[in-house]
Order: sequence, then structure tokens, then C-alpha cells
Amino acid sequence: MREFALIDRLKTRLASRRTDTRLGIGDDAALIAPAAGEELAITTDTLIAGRHFPSDTPAFDIGYKAIAVNLSDLAAMGADPAWVTLALAAPELDESWCDAFLDGACAAMGDDPIDIIGGDTTRGDLSITVTAIGRLPVGSALRRSGAQPGDVIAVTGTLGDAAHGLDCWDERAQANADETFCIERLARPRWRNGAALRALAHAAIDISDGLVADLGHVLAASGVGARVNVDALPVSPALAGCVDTAQMRACQLGGGDDYELCITLAPGDLERAQAALDCPLTVIGEVEAEAGLRLVDAAGRPFAWAGAAGWDHFPDA
Ligand code: ADP
Ligand code: MG
Repeated sequence: MREFALIDRLKTRLASRRTDTRLGIGDDAALIAPAAGEELAITTDTLIAGRHFPSDTPAFDIGYKAIAVNLSDLAAMGADPAWVTLALAAPELDESWCDAFLDGACAAMGDDPIDIIGGDTTRGDLSITVTAIGRLPVGSALRRSGAQPGDVIAVTGTLGDAAHGLDCWDERAQANADETFCIERLARPRWRNGAALRALAHAAIDISDGLVADLGHVLAASGVGARVNVDALPVSPALAGCVDTAQMRACQLGGGDDYELCITLAPGDLERAQAALDCPLTVIGEVEAEAGLRLVDAAGRPFAWAGAAGWDHFPDA
């Protein structure tokens, strides 16, 4: 398929869902019209084959993940996702690959009022760069720097599934039901509704590099510390069913790619936050004034954790 055939396909396929999209695909740039009193949250993530997803990932899952990880970043700011641009580099434009890729991208957006308003198409090694733009009332964004001593720390969904999914990826043809669940969590991460937490959470981050690393970013940005009960970390029945406790803790604390939200909030707002979400919200610890992350077990004993402190693309620099 030629480049312009793909762009035509995108245009017919991606009907606008928003009145504040003035001009979508087809001109030199898109036009959007944010309302007075709004701020825009803008985020970009690149996914490179073999680095951010296994090279043999199906096209649907690549399209899904490229969109979902960006919408997850908007969620972590408490923004309502509104617009997306999609830059695709591929060695060739295979028609059925492109259709499946777009099916996946659309599936990640679901029925939400999100428009793909533009992008770029080039020949190269397979990589996808998505920019997502979200809307917020002025001054209402959830930032990493807002955590306060006395806040509870809570996470959405379950932790560690995607990390185990990656461990199982190469043998996925033989995977059992529990392993398949974890593999699907890696391939098609759910993004959460962070906008619902806007007036409730003090700080938020999405867990893309592992809980210890990402919560660490919140603590550092906020100038605080925390105590986290590793026995309270939410686990899916699937993960609990296919690994031992040591592996489970490693996946929950150090594993990336879950794209759950980690928030801090006043204990009195917990119930409202739970009610505002369409997924479980689990308290895992509390924010303390003393710097550093203290991992403990349910009895309050220190939990030794020697895992890596998150992913660094340039560890030698
Ligand atoms: P230009 O040469 O001005 O950059 P292009 O030919 O790259 O224009 O793109 C033409 C139109 O198609 C633009 O509106 C651009 O945003 C859109 N477009 C190109 N590639 C993609 C893509 N992969 N996804 C979404 N929109 C795209
Ligand atoms: Mg272009």
C-alpha cells in the first residue's frame, strides 16, 4: 500500500467525534479549539519494535499499546483525552498489517471521544510515536509533586501481570489460562480514567517502569518518603496462580508495563476515589515526611528488595 492510500484509509475510517476538532487529517496541520478555562496536557511516547514490544507482536496489539500508553500518561495527569497524532515508521505498508494496527489503535480508544487528528508516515524500522493531548480545567492537573505526609498511597487494578506476561511471551503458544491473562495484560494494557481522580488525588503517576521506580519519582518530586506494605499489593488471581511469592513480589515491585495508576490522597477522600473509578483501588501504604521508600510486610517488618530501580535506556551515560 502507498503512503497516500494509508492516509485516505485513515481519513475515511477515523470520523471525528469532537466538535472542538476544527480540522483533522488532510492538511499541513490539524486545528483544535480548546475552550476558555482549559489547559491542555500533552504527552509523547515512542514504541520501538524489539525494545518496547517483542518484534513478533501482532499488529493489533502494537496499535493498541501505542495509543494506550499515551492515554495512560494523560490519565496520570488527570486529563480527559481528546486528541492523538500517530507517526508510523514501517519497513513497508502491508495492507492487512495496517488495518489490524488501526483496529488495535481504535480499540484502545474505545468509545471515548478521542480524535486521531494527524500524524506522519515514513519508511524505516518499525516504530510508532504517538502524541496525545488531553483537556483539564486550569490548575487542576495531578502532578508528581503533590504528595503530602499523611496521604495514603493507592493503586488501581493489579500489579505485576505484564512483567510475568513478558516472561511467558516466548512460550505463549503453550501458555495456560493464567499465563495467557498475563500475556494479554502486557499486549493490551488498560488505561485508567484519571480524570475522575482530579479533585481527589494529590499526586499521580502511571506505573510503566515498576511500582518502586515510579512511586520513587512521586516521592522525589514531592520531597517526601513512604512506607509500603508489600503484602497489600494487589495481585490478580492469574499471577498468584502461576508464580511463587518471591517471583510475584518481583513482578509487583519491579515489573513495568502494567499502566495502573499510583496515587496519593487524603485518607478521607479514599471512599469517593473508589466510587469514582470503574476498577478496584487498593491502599498499599502511606506518605511520610522522612525521605526514602520503606518496604515492609504486613507485620511491619522491613522487606528486603534488591531489585533494579526502574528502567533506564541509557544506563552507561
Ligand atoms: P506533510 O507532507 O505536510 O507532512 P503528509 O503527507 O505527511 O503531509 O500528511 C498528510 C496528512 O495526513 C496530514 O494531515 C497528516 O497529519 C496525516 N497523516 C499522515 N500520516 C498519518 C498517520 N500515520 N496517522 C494519522 N495521520 C497521518
Ligand atoms: Mg508528514
